[in-house]
Amino acid sequence: MLDRDLFWADNQRVHTCRHCGNGVEDRFRFCPWCAVPQRSKLVEFFAPHPDVPTDAGRALRVSRYFASDERPPQLRFSIWSGDSADAAVSVTEEEAARLAEFVAPTTRRPFFDQLRDSLRL
Ligand SMILES: [Zn+2]
Repeated sequence: MLDRDLFWADNQRVHTCRHCGNGVEDRFRFCPWCAVPQRSKLVEFFAPHPDVPTDAGRALRVSRYFASDERPPQLRFSIWSGDSADAAVSVTEEEAARLAEFVAPTTRRPFFDQLRDSLRL
């Protein structure tokens, strides 16, 4: 049986989008009505390689800061040991895109090869 109090508590966590003014559930990172980010930053942790013993207990934290009046958009990379950061650096969105391409290159076939296959030539 559904716990009604818990159900309503979960569904009442809604705030107003600062851009369009529509209601947005707190769990959403972006407004479903206008797509504006609802948080000033997003954070993800990445685990170390399990087969590299010297990295046990460490993690890579990447924080994505959205543009604001005080700060340009940026991505901040930090290496964490336990509950403190050993080092950190912020990069521009362009450098982050270059990093993403370096880490996971997109495999694009040349345009004419795709066209030739599409036309079955
Ligand atoms: Zn909105």
